[in-house]
Order: sequence, then structure tokens, then C-alpha cells
Amino acid sequence: MLVCLAHPDDETFGMGGTLALYARRGVQVHLVCATRGDVGDVDLELMQGFNTIAERRESELRCAAAILGLTGIYFLGYRDSGMPGTADNLHPNALAAQPVDEVAAKVVHYIRLLHPQVVVTHDPIGGYKHPDHIAMHNASVRAFALASDPNYSSDLPPFQPQKLYYQTMPKDLMRWAVKLAPIFGIDPHRFGRNHDIDLATVVKEGSFPTHARINCRSVSEIRDEATACHSSQLGGAIGRKGPLTLLRRYFGSTESFMRAYPTPENGLHEQDLFEGVR
Ligand SMILES: [Zn+2]
Repeated sequence: MLVCLAHPDDETFGMGGTLALYARRGVQVHLVCATRGDVGDVDLELMQGFNTIAERRESELRCAAAILGLTGIYFLGYRDSGMPGTADNLHPNALAAQPVDEVAAKVVHYIRLLHPQVVVTHDPIGGYKHPDHIAMHNASVRAFALASDPNYSSDLPPFQPQKLYYQTMPKDLMRWAVKLAPIFGIDPHRFGRNHDIDLATVVKEGSFPTHARINCRSVSEIRDEATACHSSQLGGAIGRKGPLTLLRRYFGSTESFMRAYPTPENGLHEQDLFEGVR
């Protein structure tokens, strides 16, 4: 399995249970992480021993990856673009500012090198409209098509993965989070550590079909341990007693995915991303 995501923590918060589950079944789970999560505030006390936020967040990712049981992590070396409208969008190395074909070429390299049967990335609106998630979605979709194209030349021969999935936000959980947020003193338009997640709008607009639900109950403690690695990102809503954490305990035994390839028939309900894989 090859998982193509934008930041350290994306592998744990949305799909950590699924990754832990497959790693425990003996699947080699590889992660391409486009940035080191350079942007956003981190409490000063958590910066001891680190020169930059990126260094801190890379070490958090390595901690989580070891707990989840990932086989390999490959950074693409882009810079976190921050949320829309911030100066970080304009940095020359910002992921969201790169031509999609350039990012896709790097993903093609890993698909052709690692030969994944299943590829997973962000959904088309990047879960909650984070520009880096959207950029990584676009690059991964392009790469999935190019990797098998014999006319697309790179340093490695073509390879065709069998399935492509987008991780989707669990809608029930989000609806409840929006309802409960005010009780915790949180504005549902300003969720998250950096208050930059407009969950209320995402719940209204983001609606992708769920084609696969993965039951992660057996690994929920492992996912919680991996979550704890990302301590710089655990303020506010995702903190230990935040509404998202409490709701995740309740709804969080499943993680949901939309299948993009092969094109799903109507009403597809898979319980395994490797269903039908040869
Ligand atoms: Zn992210």
C-alpha cells in the first residue's frame, strides 16, 4: 500500500487505524509525505531540542510511523503552504504553488519503485479544504494515471497499481462535532490547533460517497498512541478531552474511503481495501 499525503499527522488523524490494521496483517505500508508541516504554531516548550517546526513535526511523524508499523517514509521536500490567504501560500517552495505535473512526477517515481497494489490519498477537497491536501490529491491522481503509461518515461519502467482510494471525513462524526463544538467553547467555523478549519462549511459542502468502511476497533489503542506522538498538533478540538477525540472514541471504530479506481458500481460497500486484489 502506498499512502500519498501532505503533512505529518495526516497519516494518523484520518486513517491511522487503517494503516495500523494493514501493517499488522503483513502489508507493507509506505508513506509519501509531501511536506514536513513547516507552518502553524507549536508551543515553545515543545520546541526544546528542535531548530524548526518542521524538525519537530518530522520527529512526531517518525514516532507515529513506528507505532503504526509503517514500512517506509519518503519526504518530497516541499514546504507547507498554510491555509488559504496566508503569506505562506506564496513561498516559492510551497506545495500548493508547484505545477501539478512536477509533484506528480515525484509520486510516479515511488509508484514505479514500490509497486503498490493499493494507493490512497486525500479526497478532492482535501478533507477540509487545506490547499496542500488538495495539491497532493491532484498530484496523486495524475501520478496514478501516469505511472502505468508506457509513453511517460522516467527512471523506472511503468507499473499499474490495482486500486485508488480517497480518504473521506467521517460525516456523522463531523456533524456531531459541529453541533457539540459550542458547548466546548469552540467556533465550528474555526476548528483545530490553528483555528483554521471551517468544519461547519465542510459539513455543508463536502459530500463524497463512501465505498469502503474499515473497522479499526481492534487497533484503536494503537491509533491513540500514534495520535499522542503528534503532540504539537493536539490543542483545541483534538486534545485529549476535545470534542473530536471524544466523538472519535464513539464513531471512530471505522474509517471511510471513496474508491476512485476501478470505477465503483452503484452502492459499493467494501470492508477491505484489498478486496479483489490479485
Ligand atoms: Zn494535513
